[in-house]
Amino acid sequence: MAYLQLQGIEKFFGEHRAIKGIDLAIEPGEFIVFVGPSGCGKSTLLRLIAGLEQIDGGKLSLEGRDITHLPSSQRDLAMVFQSYALYPHMSVFENMSFALKLAKVPAEVIRDKVARAADILNLTPYLQRTPKELSGGQRQRVAIGRAIVRAPKVFLFDEPLSNLDAALRGQTRVEIAKLHRDLGATTIYVTHDQVEAMTLADRVVVLRDGQIEQVGTPLELYDRPANQFVAQFIGTPQMNVVPLEKLPPVVQQLAPAGAAGGAIGLRPENVLLRPGGQGPIAGRVDLVEALGAETLVYVSTPAGATLVARLSERTPLVAGNTVTLDVATEHAHWFNPSGRVVRQ
Ligand code: ATP
Repeated sequence: MAYLQLQGIEKFFGEHRAIKGIDLAIEPGEFIVFVGPSGCGKSTLLRLIAGLEQIDGGKLSLEGRDITHLPSSQRDLAMVFQSYALYPHMSVFENMSFALKLAKVPAEVIRDKVARAADILNLTPYLQRTPKELSGGQRQRVAIGRAIVRAPKVFLFDEPLSNLDAALRGQTRVEIAKLHRDLGATTIYVTHDQVEAMTLADRVVVLRDGQIEQVGTPLELYDRPANQFVAQFIGTPQMNVVPLEKLPPVVQQLAPAGAAGGAIGLRPENVLLRPGGQGPIAGRVDLVEALGAETLVYVSTPAGATLVARLSERTPLVAGNTVTLDVATEHAHWFNPSGRVVRQ
């Protein structure tokens, strides 16, 4: 049995079945990320694991022990929220030591544990400040520190970076990754940001409408998505998905039998452009985005297909130019009409 095991987990809010029979086995030390669009059930699933919501069906076990109906306080899990939830009148030290003090841990042990967590999180100079005297990123680190001192069996993070600005979000993300490398603690992390999911996770769980669409390492999901939903959720810019009917017969003929009436999926880096419209798929440049290290070129074809190409070099192309699209079919993902992958 896995370290943390979810078997057929169900959650209803009134008539609404928010979580639909989730099975998942998490190994010790794994960094698992739940990702998916708004309302797919990521936070609910995390709260069910935390014991903050009642599980309506199925079984949850930690180290082989059934904890499905155990109160949150007895689960030995620590949750970090996006809102920090710090005590405003307490110092950083007091915030971080609060749970240990309640548990009647001796004062010198508390001092040691807080000092170690503060050291790991670069909070040592701020221990006597109150939360309002800290930046957003520092506050979030205090919230993480509060979880660390408890040395829980599992860390649960609910969108911890969503209140930070872009630069701080990037930095704090790197700190969380380092922290996981140093502590090796089993972690479940909820985000709607697929870049966070890709950079932090050992394995990503893609959720949609209360169900798991796919579980895999970040690169498995990128290279071998199970369906069009996962293919388009993972990767920025999105994978191009073009209905076969909008492509010329030469491309349609390359499609495997199961993809008839379906679509082809191409990552932007696998769409190649040549100036001039001599080849089988001619298109028109709608927009060029020069991002410095790469250039995104948006193209549309007379048949109504729209694609984005990612070029690693700079380009003289400008809006209005005619181009030929070379479709690198060895990198293609072929989808059947219901969006399932038939070959990639
Ligand atoms: P977001 O990224 O927007 O936070 P999410 O994937 O975390 O979304 P949840 O918050 O888990 O989604 O919500 C899943 C579904 O359950 C949604 O349809 C939501 O409206 C519903 N839901 C969540 N909490 C409750 C509640 N307390 N009462 C009723 N419905 C709820």
